Amino acid sequence: ALRQVEHSQKLSSIGRLAAGVAHEINNPLAVINEKTGLMRDLIGLRDDFPDKERYLLLIDSVLKTVMRCRDITRRMLGFARRLDVTLEEININDVITETSGFLNQEALHRKIDLHLDLDPEVTGIVSDRGQLQQVFLNILNNALAAVPDGGHIEIHTRGDAEGVSVIVRDNGCGMSKDTMACIFEPFFTTKKTKGTGLGLSITYGIVKRLGGEIGVESELDKGTAFTLRFPKHPKHEA
Ligand code: ADP
Repeated sequence: ALRQVEHSQKLSSIGRLAAGVAHEINNPLAVINEKTGLMRDLIGLRDDFPDKERYLLLIDSVLKTVMRCRDITRRMLGFARRLDVTLEEININDVITETSGFLNQEALHRKIDLHLDLDPEVTGIVSDRGQLQQVFLNILNNALAAVPDGGHIEIHTRGDAEGVSVIVRDNGCGMSKDTMACIFEPFFTTKKTKGTGLGLSITYGIVKRLGGEIGVESELDKGTAFTLRFPKHPKHEA
């Protein structure tokens, strides 16, 4: 049965937390940086300071460490910014055609039938092109990893007055119920060192931010189907 994913937004809340922490830490770091710099200048000016060179070296190492911390917080803020949504009018059929094009080479090489069934009734929706590409790339990469050579992957779209539905179905290895219950968790993977377990949690976060829904159906040794739904406009919940 189709398992509708509960409303948890795990990855985006991790991203928000990281950005919040980075922001809060930046100000005290600036203070440490300023006061330590001042200390260095004061000591530098005094000829009678005992062990002057040694203290200046220690202060230098503090300043370098502060710089490293600021570097880390800057990167965390950059990561959070990538979670921002850029909205424009987009046809999901085009995004799917484009994204599956990236995978044609591998599909051809492994004799996998990558079949697109795109409804011409699909019209534009307001969404984020780059993030939608990420969604379909993650799902299709997983499908490619799941099917044997000569396998099938099909992508169906259907447009209606409220939005667009997409089904990505593969005849690959499928999943057990236990696996299925965890796939949207960050860092959950069954691929040992070959997987990061981030693909579907990122996908889930994006779909939610775009106001959509994602669900999965799967049967061991039969295959897997991901069902996605995107509204004409993302709801403003973020
Ligand atoms: P990763 O691909 O790095 O493992 P994901 O978050 O993309 O991370 O996927 C998590 C897990 O979900 C995979 O390790 C796999 O067990 C399962 N999975 C995802 N897509 C499929 C699929 N199409 N068929 C079978 N299992 C899948």
